[in-house]
Amino acid sequence: MLVAATTGRREGIDRRSFLAGAGTALLSGCGPAVVGSGGTAHKPSRAPRTLQQAMRGHVFTKGDPGFAGVAHVYNERFDGVLPHWVGRPIDAADVRGAVRWAVAHGVPLRARSGGHSYAGYSTLSGGAVLDLRKLNRIHVDHSHGIATIGAGAQLIDVYAGLAAQGATLPAGSCPSVGITGVTLGGGMGLAGRAFGLTTDNLVGAQIVTADGRIRQVDKHTDPGLLWALRGGGGGNFGVVTNLQFRVHRLPASAAYFNVKWPWSSAAQALMTWLQWAPHTRDQITSIFHMNFDQTVNANGQYLGPSSDLPGLLSALTSVPGASSGSFNSSYLPLQLFLAGCSHGLPACHTVGTAPGGTLSRALFWAKSDYITHPLSHAGAQTLVNAIDQHQSQGVPGSAAILFDAYGGAINRVAPGATAFVHRNALCAMQYLAYNGGASWLNQTYASMRPYVSGMAYQNYIDSGLSTWRHAYYGSNYPRLLSVRQRVDPQHFFNFPQAIGR
Ligand SMILES: Cc1cc2nc3c(=O)[nH]c(=O)nc-3n(C[C@H](O)[C@H](O)[C@H](O)COP(=O)(O)OP(=O)(O)OC[C@H]3O[C@@H](n4cnc5c(N)ncnc54)[C@H](O)[C@@H]3O)c2cc1C
Repeated sequence: MLVAATTGRREGIDRRSFLAGAGTALLSGCGPAVVGSGGTAHKPSRAPRTLQQAMRGHVFTKGDPGFAGVAHVYNERFDGVLPHWVGRPIDAADVRGAVRWAVAHGVPLRARSGGHSYAGYSTLSGGAVLDLRKLNRIHVDHSHGIATIGAGAQLIDVYAGLAAQGATLPAGSCPSVGITGVTLGGGMGLAGRAFGLTTDNLVGAQIVTADGRIRQVDKHTDPGLLWALRGGGGGNFGVVTNLQFRVHRLPASAAYFNVKWPWSSAAQALMTWLQWAPHTRDQITSIFHMNFDQTVNANGQYLGPSSDLPGLLSALTSVPGASSGSFNSSYLPLQLFLAGCSHGLPACHTVGTAPGGTLSRALFWAKSDYITHPLSHAGAQTLVNAIDQHQSQGVPGSAAILFDAYGGAINRVAPGATAFVHRNALCAMQYLAYNGGASWLNQTYASMRPYVSGMAYQNYIDSGLSTWRHAYYGSNYPRLLSVRQRVDPQHFFNFPQAIGR
């Protein structure tokens, strides 16, 4: 499934390609405005009667032709979850109007950037969604090295927009993930060990809070809220309208590598990768893949020439049966490749989210863990056995277990310096099942309890995780709660795993 590379050619595929290659993968008009409960403060009589009267951007209403397509999020599991309204604000003032309206009428509200929440938390039954896709401007202030990015920009457009201005930002490889969701929950990508998490590069944000104010948040104006936005998770505190990042000079080029092994070496390969990937040179960030079809590989990005890679990868290639390959590329084309896009930038968007978009949505289940100590053979073999069972028991759909290397710049940040607490991990891991296999996923996750830390990645948000307060935020949770109580005392911004639930 994940192809061996031999020499200088683009081989091996990312998760999206894996999904596609698997074949299995991956009310109306101006009606009564008030639904739901839980609103706060403002008197309805002072607010516009309808959401459309509260903002200039278009508001789609349940029952409008094509409403479902506008309302759907990335994961098809949530296609049955439909809000009453989807508003597309055109600026921060529009967001403020919508928030004031929702608070005044007690209408539950969810913000949406890219719509990729694993648990579907950027949609809801009834209530309103603010889809921020029109807030997607990307501007670099070269004199200060700061980029201001609209809250609804998708990652591939962030890479492209920054590259056009000579800059880059570490972020994930999935092209259609939204910049706000990924940043507020961390943001792990293939430049992460060199440049840190996306959120580590965040220096400011514009946010509309439940009191209806547009606030500029930075280390001077509100260091406490900035701290919370850096890893405290999407959907808390307010609706972000733009984000300000310290950006990096665009690397002239970078190298891609892929190492694959026969399935018989899978446990040893995983143990070896875990001893290497979090500790190797910062310029290398790698992902280890175990796939439902009994294939295993590690791929990644090196911010240096591919000629260095044979030496740097020697620990991995010494595992029996290894084969490897690599190639150099200029930076933006490599990000398109990592995104699984071979037909250029316009095509590298989900169908219906941008003109020319060709990528499909997916139907999947996921859970996550952190590994903080080297995995024993028994631990690695537990995962091999799980993949074997997926095959032998005819589990429907496809699946993968992925490991994102930490260490480097990520682990040099103190656990309390930002709200993102996971600074001692060797890697984050995630269990993914596409088009079925949820029971297999839960069993596999249960079987790994003896070998993992008990923490979980808040961006792989998991509605089935009862220990989420500790698992996502650890010792940072009490401080997050106090920030939430200060900026949103009535807890208007709410969802099943919101800070304060
Ligand atoms: C296919 C796929 C690939 C992924 N790859 C990576 C990866 O490489 N690295 C990584 O770190 N993560 C990755 N993720 C996880 C991703 O970071 C999270 O799912 C993230 O929350 C998605 O952000 P979004 O804006 O697309 O999602 P959304 O569903 O729009 O939002 C996620 C959460 O943030 C809230 N939110 C959205 N916009 C705003 C806003 N403007 N203000 C306040 N709250 C807001 C939403 O209400 C929701 O609670 C991936 C997810 C998928 C589905």
